[in-house]
Amino acid sequence: TQSIGGLLDGITQYDGLRQRRAVAKAITLLESTRPDHRVQADALLTTLLPHTGKSFRLGISGVPGVGKSTFIEALGLYLIGQGHRVAVLAVDPSSSVSGGSILGDKTRMEMLSVHEKAYIRPSPSSGTLGGVAEKTREAMLVCEAAGYDVVIVETVGVGQSETAVANMTDMFVLMQLPNAGDDLQAIKKGVMELADLVVINKVDIDPDAATRARAQITSSLRLLGLHGNPEHMHHDAAIWHPQVIQLSALHAQGVDSFWSKVLEFKALQTRNGKFDVRRQKQALAWMWERIDAGLKQAFAQHPAVKELLPKLTQEVLEGRLAASTAARNMLAAQENQT
Ligand code: GDP
Repeated sequence: TQSIGGLLDGITQYDGLRQRRAVAKAITLLESTRPDHRVQADALLTTLLPHTGKSFRLGISGVPGVGKSTFIEALGLYLIGQGHRVAVLAVDPSSSVSGGSILGDKTRMEMLSVHEKAYIRPSPSSGTLGGVAEKTREAMLVCEAAGYDVVIVETVGVGQSETAVANMTDMFVLMQLPNAGDDLQAIKKGVMELADLVVINKVDIDPDAATRARAQITSSLRLLGLHGNPEHMHHDAAIWHPQVIQLSALHAQGVDSFWSKVLEFKALQTRNGKFDVRRQKQALAWMWERIDAGLKQAFAQHPAVKELLPKLTQEVLEGRLAASTAARNMLAAQENQT
């Protein structure tokens, strides 16, 4: 095994392929479930941390087929043309359930994936959504230390993964198809509230439908701005109204105006001090989320709890014991034995 110092040098010294190998190796270490690897991984993260934070973190979500990979390929190549280096990470909630992967297809982003100024990593494939998100968040830090100044985190528009990605990025973009009605689904799931920007893709197929969709989503967003839950919004409704733009990823049309919107948002957030606040909030929320998960895991493995859990679960199910009493009994049992 390589020393942490050696790995850090490999990551932080830009040297084409060698750096990419070091980045890949570091992320593999972070993804490992072996306890001794975890100790090394945490040491690596601590040494990496001073080199992180300088990228722009962009979350992109949308249902399968909306055109995420086509768009990320076009955007990535555009950004490289502007002198950026681009990393693309993914949070794929399906991989932890089925072992398969919606986002893992090898043929995706053909040109970007072989570009020396890009680094593409598929979703970590093990564990809960929280676990997958944790690995992705850590992989993002490795990419930042390696000097990728735009990190794109992609996720599919199913389940809770959008919230996880919105919670680790500076800006969250929701991609939609131009058929009206789709946005209602996003509103129901609470995803629209997360969006800092909505992109309607595939305008080339039906420009009229795209125009209608844009009007509809714009008014939905306005309503959400007035009546939505501010706790769910990552931007401050007083300074930024999420906008809706149209593009055609396949023809790389609208990519430049998309990026202008991103820069506009970034400048506004920075000017108002919201950029750093959002990251600080995210870091603390993340810390507590992981503490919750860790405590719960330790709790479930505690001998006293293990003994009581099946019995009390049954009693709660049968209505013989109040759920809160069962919880208190087990918490007390765990406390008494430690
Ligand atoms: P993902 O599942 O969200 O990553 O979607 P893909 O990027 O794989 O795109 C799904 C399909 O839509 C592919 O066949 C793309 O070529 C096509 N597609 C993507 N963007 C556009 C677009 O702007 N216009 C048209 N006509 N097709 C598109």
